[in-house]
Amino acid sequence: MENSALHIAVVPTPGMGHLIPLVEFAKKLLHRHNFSATFFLPNNGPLSHAQRSFLFTLPPAIEYVILPSITFDDDPGNVKPETRIGLTITRSVPLIRDAVGSLNGTKKFNAFVVDMFAVDAFDEEVLVCYGYEFKIPPYLFFPSSAMTLSVFFHLPKLDKTVSGEYRDLPEKFKIPGCIPLHGSDFFEPAQDRKNDAYRWILHLSEKFRTAPAGIIVNSFKELEPGAFEALQKKEKGKPDIYAIGPLIQMGSNSEVQNSSVCLNWLDEQPISSVLFVSFGSGGTLSHAQITELALGLEMSEQRFLWVIRCPSDRSPSGPDDPLSYLPEKFVDRTKDRGLVVPVWAPQAQILAHGSTCAFLSHCGWNSTLESVVSGVALIAWPLVAEQKMNAVLLHEDVKVALRPKVGENGLVGRVEVCWVVQALMEGEEGKGIRSRMRALREGAARALTSSPGLDDLAKKWIN
Ligand code: UDP
Repeated sequence: MENSALHIAVVPTPGMGHLIPLVEFAKKLLHRHNFSATFFLPNNGPLSHAQRSFLFTLPPAIEYVILPSITFDDDPGNVKPETRIGLTITRSVPLIRDAVGSLNGTKKFNAFVVDMFAVDAFDEEVLVCYGYEFKIPPYLFFPSSAMTLSVFFHLPKLDKTVSGEYRDLPEKFKIPGCIPLHGSDFFEPAQDRKNDAYRWILHLSEKFRTAPAGIIVNSFKELEPGAFEALQKKEKGKPDIYAIGPLIQMGSNSEVQNSSVCLNWLDEQPISSVLFVSFGSGGTLSHAQITELALGLEMSEQRFLWVIRCPSDRSPSGPDDPLSYLPEKFVDRTKDRGLVVPVWAPQAQILAHGSTCAFLSHCGWNSTLESVVSGVALIAWPLVAEQKMNAVLLHEDVKVALRPKVGENGLVGRVEVCWVVQALMEGEEGKGIRSRMRALREGAARALTSSPGLDDLAKKWIN
């Protein structure tokens, strides 16, 4: 503990996925360097149950201000989620300025840390709003992989040199330090260059290169040595890059939905025998895909714990119980080795539980890091956002995941599900993958203990 007057202002984007690692970052700064933090939370509707119970558990040194909700009365109805997030932030900038300004005199911020999607909050007026003589240094928090950041850095160049859609090019793209990537694996907004979401991503990537004093990346060098080496190469005008990961949600919270039912059930299962199945905080499958996944899990005869949501193609008048979309009598037939819980489960604790053997995941970056920290091998089942890039990193580069093939009908069929589950949990290939993941867990533990990137940052801010 060095100095209790150290304080940072933090702006996350709406939702849990980016809030969790930012809070973990603030907690680590508090524990290692005695920084306190104020979170300014932009939003576009009421906070979810999960968000409210998460905020409730914050230590007193981490305060938060919920900003007035942004409305979308002018939404023509086809605005993509990414654009909606961007608009929420842009429209919240005056609110952020007012909220930061109202703390004038009670707090002096050493740094202004904003989530990657909130880079527009690097508004001159926000940064100087308290009338301080000095600006608050702006930092970007990048909650995903160094590979994804590399693609962001590279995008303005690709935009100028490539014509047509990236996904239509047969050859892979060589991004410095990264495994070659096919355009169809690029993040979602880069799949349609005519859409607003692509313009927005391009705008972000241009700002990333020049706006922040530094970029804080929630990853670690043993996981992505090549990408970090390329990103950290000194170039005039390029921000400093800090590897501070793997920061994941720690500790237990019995308030979490289905906490005891999942953990008690896992306690009764043999060591390293359960496949955990979950698609992040909001991921959904079509009804047909739920059926294939269910029947594949059943055919595999492996134990499983599945967090299920209503299908993405549910009709507005359809039932709102996710379990009602499972094949008839599925729960009955699998009750001796399977548990299906609706909507939410204590994921980090499930992954850290000794009975968990593998994780069928949508490869959201938090889920990926939680799996790495617990040494749990993956079945990579990406859905949206940058998840396909994460899947390529895990499957082709680091080789700690299997990736099922999507059939011509756009579904992963039951036979493929059965194969991939058995291959990872029982097969020879799975043995190698699981052992590589255990080795990576050691690397993650080393990065967490030594935290050189975080200590460098703190030193800079203290000085
Ligand atoms: N999560 C959880 N329980 C659930 C679903 C998700 O605790 O039932 C947590 C998960 O542990 C992770 C976060 O929510 O920390 C999801 O973040 P990720 O980046 O993996 O995916 P996203 O939700 O952003 O798609």
